[in-house]
Amino acid sequence: MSRFTTIHTLLLCAKEKLDKAGIDGGWRDARLLLASVLDVRPDYLIAHSEAGVSLHKIEHFYQYLERRLKREPVSRILGTREFWSLPFKISPATLDPRPDSETLIEAVLKDYPDHCVPLKILDLGTGSGCLLLTLLKEYPEAYGIGIDISLDALLTARENAVNLQVCDRVNFVQSSWGKGLKGSFDVLVSNPPYIPIFEIDNLDPEVKLYEPLNALDGGESGLDCYHMLALQFSLFSHRGTRLYLEIGQGQENAVEKIMKEAGYVCATWHRDLAGIKRCGVF
Ligand code: GLN
Repeated sequence: MSRFTTIHTLLLCAKEKLDKAGIDGGWRDARLLLASVLDVRPDYLIAHSEAGVSLHKIEHFYQYLERRLKREPVSRILGTREFWSLPFKISPATLDPRPDSETLIEAVLKDYPDHCVPLKILDLGTGSGCLLLTLLKEYPEAYGIGIDISLDALLTARENAVNLQVCDRVNFVQSSWGKGLKGSFDVLVSNPPYIPIFEIDNLDPEVKLYEPLNALDGGESGLDCYHMLALQFSLFSHRGTRLYLEIGQGQENAVEKIMKEAGYVCATWHRDLAGIKRCGVF
């Protein structure tokens, strides 16, 4: 490439390579990667498509592109992912925050419309902290604890808490589903691993190769963690406590049964943008 290669030419070339590799959304991915290399917003690229790009930046962009061609997700390459329009740092120990999980945030907001309420929130399996920290942003008087089995994940979550300026209202505790922790909370949220182990091989390479297995693996049936959460619920609840649980597609009956056996009735299901029952409120 000459040093007068334009933004447009680079994007076009990248899109062609991504298309050829069978990767959907090549245009979007190329724009996100190039915007990051040039340290501009993606919409800048449209307005300045005829601007030249320096050799050094082109090289950097092609390094990113090579990684994307090996199916590494853009969020992993850039180390960050947007959730609820907030930036979250991710790491090899954390699950990539997904738009589906925003259903949990919407569900809590619907039940607690007063944003000044001083909620006490517990996030079981906090990962990047996306659920808990988003709720702390929405409820400026709220306080929260995020637990995770992975210390590395907790370090990333803490970094996110600092970046989002909520670190004075949150604590992180290393624990398996709250073992060793005491306290009662108004809101419990969890997006546990729920993929049946035999299905992990069928996942997209972006997930299978780059997401932490222990954030996906829900055991033989995919339901192991719900059994665990049903047991733990009573330890952290008072009369008015609500539990918001994310589930995988089609798991609603099985999860309702597990929770019912532990004495908890489902109040409602919230659907994600694809119309799938994604969040149960108990
Ligand atoms: N709570 C985090 C999220 O919703 C992590 C979930 C997980 O690792 N299964 O993304």
